[in-house]
Amino acid sequence: MDYIQIGKDYIMNTYSRFPLVLVRGKGAVVYDDQGREYLDFVAGIAVNNLGHCHPSVVAAIKEQVENMIHCSNLYWNAPQAELARLLVENSFGDKVFFCNSGTEANEASIKLVRKYSKENYGENRYGIITMHQSFHGRTLGSLTATGQTKYHNGFAPLVEGFKYVPFNDIRALEAAIDENTCAVMLEPIQGEGGVYEVQENYLYQVRKLCDEKGLLLIFDEVQCGMGRSGKLFAYQHYGVQPDIMTLAKAIAGGLPLGAMIATDKVASAFKPGDHASTFGGNPVACAAGVAVMKELLGGVIDNAREMGDYLKAGLLQLKQIHPVISEIRGKGLMIGVEFNMQEVTGIVNKAMQKGLLLLSAGHRVVRMVPPLIITRTEIDKAIDVLDDVLKEMGV
Ligand SMILES: *Cc1c(COP(=O)(O)O)cnc(C)c1O
Repeated sequence: MDYIQIGKDYIMNTYSRFPLVLVRGKGAVVYDDQGREYLDFVAGIAVNNLGHCHPSVVAAIKEQVENMIHCSNLYWNAPQAELARLLVENSFGDKVFFCNSGTEANEASIKLVRKYSKENYGENRYGIITMHQSFHGRTLGSLTATGQTKYHNGFAPLVEGFKYVPFNDIRALEAAIDENTCAVMLEPIQGEGGVYEVQENYLYQVRKLCDEKGLLLIFDEVQCGMGRSGKLFAYQHYGVQPDIMTLAKAIAGGLPLGAMIATDKVASAFKPGDHASTFGGNPVACAAGVAVMKELLGGVIDNAREMGDYLKAGLLQLKQIHPVISEIRGKGLMIGVEFNMQEVTGIVNKAMQKGLLLLSAGHRVVRMVPPLIITRTEIDKAIDVLDDVLKEMGV
């Protein structure tokens, strides 16, 4: 069967896809329908943090589907309660709202900051300031929050009340705050925008500014959370806590799940009926999430930190040989390699032909977000492939 052709015939054309049909994965390796093997440095875009088909995740899912696949949030279910407790006990937060994706988690945060701020400061407090190059999702609220016009084009009118400022520029943020502002939203490490880290001093000043002006601070950790940065949550590198944090991508080992975590003070603005999701906190997804949390805390995060340093060191060596590499950024296993060229798609395509899956972030950055269970041998292999590709390109 030609599934690529069938897909082209029947699936809406919203992705420019690589010509691969993936059928199976184990750890950091995936296989296509021709039996070819690829080292996966994409990991479902920072989703498969435990690699493909991790035995604990598979076992947790199997056990839960035998008992109950779905029940309404009009009732309680054990995996949801257990996952909420694990998230709260290991973060700044007190309460969790579950949904199904990153964009939904951010939508929830937009509603929550508005509800809280209107109740505490009046109807005019609804404005949210976000960062240039940010990415917060594709539904209208999160899309509006996303500080990149290329994603906005064609979809006006967007949601009212958003402003954008340059990342890591405290004066710009200060100048943008007005009597309507209720919250600041940022990714501690920007993902889609090109892997840009927040500066520690900036983050500290943002928190201070928010406290002085009664604004809420939202961290979007949909990509940089869940151990990706070498700590469970990226904000834990900086000693600055948000009022709200959003999670998704890796949280349930590949099943769709999103979460918004907030302090009690802020969370209490939501009352029954204010927000909801039919599938949010689905027991199968949450059972997988519990398994993910246990594995992450049981040593996988330490591996992410060690392997992140190892990968960075390898890339820095590569930079010595290939001056076309202009910068290496990121934390843990969320790494951006910036190239001094117009477009990195050539690199990504050639690497794929040589059995290495890579991701771009914008035109000039190759993003590496391998599973956190990656080994030294696999990293060596990836570095060798990238070295070969750059040699072949003569750069
Ligand atoms: C991927 C991503 C989102 C959107 O998540 P979806 O699950 O695709 O809706 C939001 N924020 C960040 C930082 C992301 O990387």
